[in-house]
Amino acid sequence: MNDKKQNLRLPGPVSCPREILEALSSPMINHRGPEFKELLLKVTNMMQRLFMTDSDVYILTSSGSGAMEASIVNTLSPGDKVLATPIGAFGDRYAKIAESYGANVTRLESEWGTAVDPDSIRDALKGSPDISAVLVTHNETSTGVTNDLKAIAEIVKDEFGKLLLVDAISSFGCIPLPVDDWKCDVVSGGSQKGLTVPPGLSFLSFSEVAKQAQLTAKMPRFYFDLEMVRKSLERGMTPATPAISLFFALDLALSNILTLGVEQVFKRHVHIGDFTRRGIKDLGLSLLADESCASNTVTAVKVPEGINGKELIDLMRTDYQVVVAGGVGKLEGKVFRIGHMGDVTEGEIEDCLAALDSSLRTLGFTRS
Ligand SMILES: *Cc1c(COP(=O)(O)O)cnc(C)c1O
Repeated sequence: MNDKKQNLRLPGPVSCPREILEALSSPMINHRGPEFKELLLKVTNMMQRLFMTDSDVYILTSSGSGAMEASIVNTLSPGDKVLATPIGAFGDRYAKIAESYGANVTRLESEWGTAVDPDSIRDALKGSPDISAVLVTHNETSTGVTNDLKAIAEIVKDEFGKLLLVDAISSFGCIPLPVDDWKCDVVSGGSQKGLTVPPGLSFLSFSEVAKQAQLTAKMPRFYFDLEMVRKSLERGMTPATPAISLFFALDLALSNILTLGVEQVFKRHVHIGDFTRRGIKDLGLSLLADESCASNTVTAVKVPEGINGKELIDLMRTDYQVVVAGGVGKLEGKVFRIGHMGDVTEGEIEDCLAALDSSLRTLGFTRS
């Protein structure tokens, strides 16, 4: 690798501040002892503040997908009718998890790059009164789109009283999602996205309604059995050995966010999202998502006509040490994605845009 530090512009894992990385090297402690108990209760409490919930919050040693899986297997039974609302690859993943455990999943598809039309969810729920749960991706990382979760929640909860399961992995701690106000039943997050902690921890909020559903939920579960997690948490423990080092890092990250104030952190993301999109347009490039639903944590940019997307990404990495993400699924080769979640500066985005501009020139791109 070159001397210049990589500018990791991915939508997760994101680059971690030096002090967070240093927290990882704290000496090991007994995960059944008083120090971990104190740490777990403190971190869980801070997590509740960030989720804006009085309900339970569980922290799991797994990537974000583990929390998504936990949200399904703890609230549903095989054969249950579920409405999935995918707007990209991660929405597809949520639907697939439910299918894997035998849920009867109906997919309400939207074009990739657009948000779910809340009215279409109302129509789908009207048409199938026996649906028990709705799966929603708050922020679709594969397309750079943020759904109008507030409007969706009003329909799912206030109008139909269904279980609302939300993947907020790439919006958690970056884009407002007041869990109790919006009555979301289970909301999943992951450590390596907006919290600027390395990968390995996931977390989820779990409402009273979700707890009721859990009593009759028959899907098989063991590692992700939240009943066990809850009972352990009451004793200041986790059922299995937790990623203790990551808890040290999470403790610091959450303390920093809460000290600065979540509103401040949300504002920072609005600003950097807007700054990134303007920069892209100034280079003569097109965004995948409409400004009305554009995400403030990740931007998907269309690969211009005549340019090979993979070559572009490779060149940005090898010649400029700027690492952006490619397109996934049906957007592979068609878009690339710039992450701007966490504590991202204008300078880092400018550096990314400069590398993009130079790389495009090298590849023969001329502005139309
Ligand atoms: C990253 C991401 C996931 C998957 O998280 P992992 O930690 O890779 O398991 C799921 N959903 C969304 C929206 C994401 O951004």
